[in-house]
Amino acid sequence: MNTIRLEKLLSHQQNILSKIALGTALNDVLNDICLSIEEIIDDSSAKCSILSLEGEQLFHCAAPNISAEYSQLINGVHIGPNVGSCGTAAYRKSRVIVENIETSPLWEDYKELALGFGLKSCWSTPIISTQSKILGTFAIYHNIAKVPSTKDLELIDYFVHFSSIALEKNVNFLKAERLIVDLQQSNDKFKAFTQVMPDLTFILDEEGKYVDIYGVSDEFLHNSPNRLINRNLNDLFSKNDALPIMAIIEKTLASNEIQVFEYELDVKKGRVVFEGRTAPINDYQPENPSKRHVVWIARDITERKKTEKKVEKLAFFDPLTNLPNRRMLTERLNMCVERVKRTKKTGALFFLDLDNFKRINDSLGHSAGDELLVELAKRLSSVIRASDTIARVGGDEFVILLEYIGENNEHANIESEIVAKKLQSVFHEKFAIGELAFQVGCSIGICLVDNENFLTDNILKFADTAMYRSKMKGGNSYSFYDPELQTLLEKQTELETDIVRAIACNEFCAYFQPQVNILGQVTGVEALIRWDHPGKGLIAPNEFIPVAEQYGLIQELQNIVLRDICTLLNQLNTDKCIDESFSIAINISQCQFNSSTLKSELLKTINDFNIRPAQIKLEITESMLSSDIDNTIKQMNELKENGFAFSIDDFGTGYSCLTHLSAFPVKELKIDKSFIDKILDNGTGYSIVQVIISLAKSLKISIVAEGVESEEQFEKLKGMNIDSIQGYLIAKPMTKDAYLSWHLNNITSGT
Ligand code: C2E
Ligand code: CA
Ligand code: CA
Repeated sequence: MNTIRLEKLLSHQQNILSKIALGTALNDVLNDICLSIEEIIDDSSAKCSILSLEGEQLFHCAAPNISAEYSQLINGVHIGPNVGSCGTAAYRKSRVIVENIETSPLWEDYKELALGFGLKSCWSTPIISTQSKILGTFAIYHNIAKVPSTKDLELIDYFVHFSSIALEKNVNFLKAERLIVDLQQSNDKFKAFTQVMPDLTFILDEEGKYVDIYGVSDEFLHNSPNRLINRNLNDLFSKNDALPIMAIIEKTLASNEIQVFEYELDVKKGRVVFEGRTAPINDYQPENPSKRHVVWIARDITERKKTEKKVEKLAFFDPLTNLPNRRMLTERLNMCVERVKRTKKTGALFFLDLDNFKRINDSLGHSAGDELLVELAKRLSSVIRASDTIARVGGDEFVILLEYIGENNEHANIESEIVAKKLQSVFHEKFAIGELAFQVGCSIGICLVDNENFLTDNILKFADTAMYRSKMKGGNSYSFYDPELQTLLEKQTELETDIVRAIACNEFCAYFQPQVNILGQVTGVEALIRWDHPGKGLIAPNEFIPVAEQYGLIQELQNIVLRDICTLLNQLNTDKCIDESFSIAINISQCQFNSSTLKSELLKTINDFNIRPAQIKLEITESMLSSDIDNTIKQMNELKENGFAFSIDDFGTGYSCLTHLSAFPVKELKIDKSFIDKILDNGTGYSIVQVIISLAKSLKISIVAEGVESEEQFEKLKGMNIDSIQGYLIAKPMTKDAYLSWHLNNITSGT
């Protein structure tokens, strides 16, 4: 390179570099570069064009001596393997020298355009950044076909280098500008975000100092934000509150992971439950690069916690009594079972069911029932220890769980009885409901939680079974569970299903057994139910009556018997073979006798058949007279007023009310078969029968002997002034049709 050229080059270089350094607009710098090379290069027809590459396209940057129209037409051209000199150079990432545009295959698609502007040759060099990225192209055009000399190429390389500095600086500048814009945007977003966010955000340093606070009002803060900044939470909070917060900061930084936790703090608003989330930040303060920080977001979850508590209460507690419900009980029982397994000591579960609660509920209404249950819950809770669980598991069912009741079963049995008595004691005092006061009883079932009873469900079931046993004893008592009882209960359930089926299939009917006086004349009949089972044959009432009573099926059976009685009476009436005094007895169960619908049920059926109540005798047992005497008398009088008569069945076995007998409207006594069986022994059997007969005579009550099987018994009874007898001696119970013909035979042969 000659000296003049070198001097020119140096001066241009200085000029260009200083412009770049001063941050002159890119276009100006690039224009200068073009003008400089055009001036220095040998051929004065040289024209320079600089394009920049953005993605896959080349864009016009500077070409001061080329027609602006041409520059415009090639602006944005896509690079490729045959896209003139520049498109191809950028594509190949290497210099492309085209001596003659007219003949070059690379210019095939563009030669018309270039030639139209008088451009004949084009040498294009890619402009490459320090990171080896193509920034654009640097091209020299001539209006003659021409190849570059080595010197030309050397010169071009110089200017390509300047162009690369200018372009690269510009790219970096743009990048920095974009970064600043991005940063600004994200800052704005963050600000907007923290302003509307219901949460508080803190930036704390590793020592617990407040560095920044963002968020809504300061009611969730301990103090106003500007008073907190730069202060350490250790100085602001009590040790108890500060320690756990510091522990979280340490954990967040040590684990480098997000932490989620709950904590409570006294803030301006009051005591607030917060949900905190923390994350570590490494470069929060560029001026303090070694310092690490924690971002702490605090959300007020006090209301949510309250709702959760309410929901939990609903799920685990009975809303009426506030006692734990079955779900909670099951959980406690599971825990108890685990404890028993571990300690080998015994616990106990008491299942308590009110006697006759339904009656109170039905007669006084549910709110009265509720009142009673609430009062009972209070009383029961007062006699157990705080560590015991009392739960309401059904309408009037309560369960008391004692996790520990004894060292072993024997000890536990004794203790359980003491507890059962204590539970019963809360029923001694009457329950006041409004103006009224009620005596209520309960049946208790006890199941021990020991090494044999591990299944929660079973324990509850067993205690329930035991409770049932107490019910069957007549209520107001407690019983222990015993596995045989369970089997019995299962059999009973089976039987119940069968009874329901049998009622639908008309398998039940009444049999009839006559009663005769000492002359052998028929005075009446007793109806006795029978089940003609398709598989088992004729089944006696003792096998199914107790179950029917227990499962509430007795009324339906009773109606069947009563209908058969009415049919028979109608036939006898039609045949005119009975007189006014003739009646048929029907056995009334205890539960029916207690029911308020007894009278209406009886009247409904007999009215349907046009039968007078006087033709029906109601047999109730002696034991039914011994409970709730006032009510019993009332009930009996009401039925008597309607025309029904009463006979006391199984008399002599109840002992209880011989002396009160006169108080009841009784027409007849039936001496129990067990006494008749012993009547010939001249021992106690005989004397008892004699006492009963004389008592009845004095009260003007007629007397029937049951289960008379022999002539001797009959003779003896005649001697004792009996009124009539019933038993196999006269006839066994028989079907309606059999009885009809028996009756016809006997009235003709009798009187
Ligand atoms: P119950 O009322 O004491 O009836 C008398 C029972 O003694 C009847 O048994 C009868 O068949 C039986 N019997 C009568 N005479 C003799 C005799 O000379 N020798 C012996 N060994 N037995 C005799 P059944 O029919 O099996 O009834 C048993 C119990 O079932 C009845 O005792 C009664 O308590 C109940 N029962 C029967 N039918 C009904 C009914 O329709 N409703 C209700 N609630 N209970 C009924
Ligand atoms: Ca009877
Ligand atoms: Ca009897």
